[in-house]
Amino acid sequence: MTSKLQYVGWQVGITYQTKKKAGLDQQYLHDLLLEMSDRGMNFVSFMMISHGLNDPIHDGYTWPTANPKLKCYTDRHCLNADTETEFLSDIIEEAGNLGFHVNLFMNGFWWNHDRVKVGYPGIRTMGNANTNDAMYHHCADNDDTWRLACDEVSDLLTYYSRGPVSSYGFEMIGREGCKCPDTMKLFNDALASAGLDRNREARAAEDFFRLWNRLRDKQVLEEFVLAIRRAAPSIEIWHHGYMELGDLGGYRFSANSYRKAGVDVAMPCVHTLMSEDMLERVLSSAEGFPVVLHVDARGGATLNYGVPAKSPEYIRNIGKWILKHNKECLKGAVFFNEPFTSQANKDAVYEVVRTWRDTGVF
Ligand SMILES: [Zn+2]
Repeated sequence: MTSKLQYVGWQVGITYQTKKKAGLDQQYLHDLLLEMSDRGMNFVSFMMISHGLNDPIHDGYTWPTANPKLKCYTDRHCLNADTETEFLSDIIEEAGNLGFHVNLFMNGFWWNHDRVKVGYPGIRTMGNANTNDAMYHHCADNDDTWRLACDEVSDLLTYYSRGPVSSYGFEMIGREGCKCPDTMKLFNDALASAGLDRNREARAAEDFFRLWNRLRDKQVLEEFVLAIRRAAPSIEIWHHGYMELGDLGGYRFSANSYRKAGVDVAMPCVHTLMSEDMLERVLSSAEGFPVVLHVDARGGATLNYGVPAKSPEYIRNIGKWILKHNKECLKGAVFFNEPFTSQANKDAVYEVVRTWRDTGVF
């Protein structure tokens, strides 16, 4: 069954993959909004954090943080992060007046460890802390990590609470099967409360852990959604999982888990979607849950994570596949990341949007 797409637009990093150390400015985003509106788009997402691991000249928060503990990870080079030069409030207002759905977005639980530990000294990385990647992954079972994750979303949504922000999106939830002391204490407490002794049940402990870990993933998702709702009670909550929906560990969840947690929209990362079959699998896995595809439109190489560079032909193909395999659950497409997208790829995106408009699918 086909349906009309409700949301089509760009996700834009305020600093991420932008050319200048200060990131974008008001004129750039003003011009972009008019261009998007002119080309028939109705959705814009602002990515409010960058990470030095993935962008060597940008690292940290891109709004004027109010919580003193968050100052340690504020990007002091970012134009929008200074109270005196903050401009995104005006842009959000302008986007609202143009009829855009405005989304704010951050990764979550993924920070430059050496910088955030200044404000949150007890914070703990997960896995092998000798690799660059592991120095950004943080465990939700740690009290300071959890506090930071909740503090940053609360700070951001409070700062922009006066503007027409309709939804908040996030990616990681600090759960990757970590076995740090904080995680193992929670696990052992859960065993004990079920009347099980870890030493006596040694042979089953691994099975117990796998099951408990999946349940804990879902619990953390539910608790994080509650934390966002406390900060912004009327906002929609969008989750950026990866490819097919399913309780597959890490930050991947099934439609049922999303419904139980109160997530409104799944925004799966489909940056490795390379065929019609893969699109069909992603949409089938949604089991009717609202999906907005997060489509990579970048032609350049990414730093420290492998995503194939995209061509105009790839973007046109995605446009055609969506027309052909559209399902009721498909509510839109967000193209990523506008400041790092070549003009040829941008033209292909706008061509796709025009085709969707012409065929009545959007
Ligand atoms: Zn842990």
